[in-house]
Amino acid sequence: KMTGKTKIGLCGLAVMGQNLALNIAEKGFPISVYNRSASKTDDTVERAKKEGDLPVQGYHDVKEFVESIEKPRAIIILVKAGAPVDATITSLTEHLEPGDIIIDGGNEWYENTERRAKEVEAKGLAYMGMGVSGGEEGARNGPSLMPGGTPEGYARIEPIVMKVAAQVDSGPCVTYIGPGGAGNFVKMVHNGIEYGDMQLIAEAYDILKSVGGLTNEEMHKAFAEWNRGELESFLIEISADIFTVKDDKTDGDTVDVILDKTGSKGTGKWTVQQAAELAIAAPTIAASLDARYLSALKDERVAAAETFKKLGVQDVQADMNVDKKQLIDDVRKALYASKICSYAQGMNVIRAKSMEQNWNLNLGELARIWKGGCIIRAKFLDRIKKAYDRDPNLPSLLVDAEFAQELVDRQGSWRKVLQLAIGAGISTAGMTASLAYFDTYRRGRLPANLTQAQRDYFGAHTYERIDGEGAFHTEWSKLA
Ligand code: NAP
Repeated sequence: KMTGKTKIGLCGLAVMGQNLALNIAEKGFPISVYNRSASKTDDTVERAKKEGDLPVQGYHDVKEFVESIEKPRAIIILVKAGAPVDATITSLTEHLEPGDIIIDGGNEWYENTERRAKEVEAKGLAYMGMGVSGGEEGARNGPSLMPGGTPEGYARIEPIVMKVAAQVDSGPCVTYIGPGGAGNFVKMVHNGIEYGDMQLIAEAYDILKSVGGLTNEEMHKAFAEWNRGELESFLIEISADIFTVKDDKTDGDTVDVILDKTGSKGTGKWTVQQAAELAIAAPTIAASLDARYLSALKDERVAAAETFKKLGVQDVQADMNVDKKQLIDDVRKALYASKICSYAQGMNVIRAKSMEQNWNLNLGELARIWKGGCIIRAKFLDRIKKAYDRDPNLPSLLVDAEFAQELVDRQGSWRKVLQLAIGAGISTAGMTASLAYFDTYRRGRLPANLTQAQRDYFGAHTYERIDGEGAFHTEWSKLA
């Protein structure tokens, strides 16, 4: 049994909380833990014993839990976002004292964090919203941490989070993000980017499977090979693994018996909503969200497939007569180019919010702390960091000298792959959105002149001219 007060407390011991608590204890910080249902507390203490007699002290009573922590106290909450966080704060604050700090590590809506910070400040307490990425494994062994709030609050937890975060060549995957709900906002967009990455990878898989006719074994080889080059990342690595796993109920592969229906918990939706609020185009991330919604309509899709089959339209209309090796290479390039566009969108959502809120966020630092611990960790993030080091005010990653060159070098393959997919009737919503984003952004003149003419025609919204200043209106119906 431990004696004396612990360094920190953690409340909420589901997947994330339990693993993060063990991680903190392992890094040398004795920790008190509490969960609404006592069984999870006992499980955590049990695991702490098994995993090396880690200094974890479990409590079934909130008051005893709070009193066991060294003052001024720091308590991390990791419960379901929304109302459970408010309920947890209420039960904690009854026993907390001025100077104590609460850190919400959940995927919380950033405005909730800002509201709660104000509420607890009135009681002399400090509050932070800290994004935690990396799932179960990250929480246990080193996540990417995105803490937002006051710099003083961050200074209090810095010695702990620097050790608990994933460690990579450029340092620990944590930095002070910014004031208010900035940490939650950045974590939210991180998840939106994650949706994009996952969708783009799924499309690459679909093209290789449906147009290229690759087997799962060939798919494994292609992904493993990709993971040794420019696409090197956690998501490519686990995809390569997934193709090798045999099903325990049939004699096939597990990936082939998984229902094609994707769930979501809200952060992707919030990213798209925020992009729209900020008037930032994020078509790849939006396409990824839409793809999840459409995937959820399994029954409707099966019925629609029947309807169109009767009309002579097959699920996939590929002749499969392609050079596999060439296709794998082209798809790799299409995936990489599409990914650049998706990250450009996500970074610009963050940049726009930062300007709106005066958060003064450092985009290069965000790319750096995403390099380890989190789901989107990738070699590629180094390049983003370097792009923002070269120019912190870069309007878009697309026009960074290195990324621009990479897009140009890949656009032939990118267009070829999408032509093949479109010809075969395979939806590649994310890659197509990325290419359209590129093709829109890089053109000096768009057909928006006609859109403006229409707006002026039916609504007298006026238009600007290419040859001078001012707002103009034409009496279109009289002149036509
Ligand atoms: P979760 O499933 O989101 O939440 C379960 C936890 O919330 C349990 O400890 C539960 O207590 C508690 N809880 C629920 N309602 C409560 C209430 N009204 N009052 C008090 N406690 C309540 O857990 P999680 O997956 O570990 O995630 C925790 C947070 O981290 C979430 O915000 C999640 O979005 C975020 N996150 C999750 C992941 C991941 O991979 N899972 C990754 C990054 C971030 P009981 O045991 O008593 O029910």
